[in-house]
Amino acid sequence: MSRRPISVSIDRLRGRRPVPSPAKLPGDDRECPRCKSRFRADEMRRNQFVCAACDHHFPIGARDRLDFMADGGDWTEIGGELRATDPLRFVDLQPYPDRIRSAEAKGNTEAIVCAELRLAGQACVAAIMDFGFLGGSMGSVVGERFAKAADHAVARGIPFVTVTSSGGARMQEGVLALMQMAKTIVSLDELADAGLPFVCVLAHPTTGGVWASFASLGDVTYAEPGALIAFSGPRVIEQTTREKLPEDFGLAEQQLVHGHVDAVVDRRELPARIGRLLAILQQPPKAQPQSLATQLAQNGTDRAASMARALPQLSKKLMDRVMGEQPRRPGDRW
Ligand SMILES: [Zn+2]
Repeated sequence: MSRRPISVSIDRLRGRRPVPSPAKLPGDDRECPRCKSRFRADEMRRNQFVCAACDHHFPIGARDRLDFMADGGDWTEIGGELRATDPLRFVDLQPYPDRIRSAEAKGNTEAIVCAELRLAGQACVAAIMDFGFLGGSMGSVVGERFAKAADHAVARGIPFVTVTSSGGARMQEGVLALMQMAKTIVSLDELADAGLPFVCVLAHPTTGGVWASFASLGDVTYAEPGALIAFSGPRVIEQTTREKLPEDFGLAEQQLVHGHVDAVVDRRELPARIGRLLAILQQPPKAQPQSLATQLAQNGTDRAASMARALPQLSKKLMDRVMGEQPRRPGDRW
């Protein structure tokens, strides 16, 4: 066994592929990290935080995304009253409650917002993750809100849609965070038992415990262009294995090639696309015309059944005839 120590230093900016983030400009204006185009805040919002020049998908908050999905309509939040506690009294560079308070100051109360809404005319429940809240990490509240949202979908008999953007389980909650992986999966089992569809949209980035639990269980799975979808990010894998990975490792387009996602869809087209899908999935099943093979099998079964019913009578007739023509004698064998 090698005694060579493994470096666990964080290579923030010297990595080959830093996660693109918009440049800081005065006010709310943004600069595209890919093509360097600059946009005013109202232009960004009008284009759903997608670069109008090169289609780069910027990070987007959960509430903004719900507004876009509901096309400006109302949505009713589910589980918004739940707040994180600090059961482990966890302290890293700062206490966990301080991190929560800093994140809450940006406008959200957790890394997921769940709501009932109408999406392109279809009633559904949506659970939207927000990477801006502690890296979209899944702790007890994220798992519980997700479970409550799934329960609500079952109670209302409507589909469940999720949009993921997460660095994985929340380390400040330890094993309590890992338990949410099982909890969310059980919720989806109950949704499946109720015969309701689960549609998953993977946004940048979807990694760790979220990808390893509910994010990979969609009946239909879409991904946004350029989203990183992997259990571990490429830098972690390269540091561990000391091997170079392909440039497109874990990106949505590559996951499509390998069959992990069903389609890569532009954010601006997602509501219409999901709405059409939900309309199809909720159609009552049509009576299928019987194939020739089915008809033959059915006829064969019917014939066999009628023969079985007639067999005792035929046997008796045959027996009578035989007995009538050739009476049984002592020593005869039947
Ligand atoms: Zn651009």
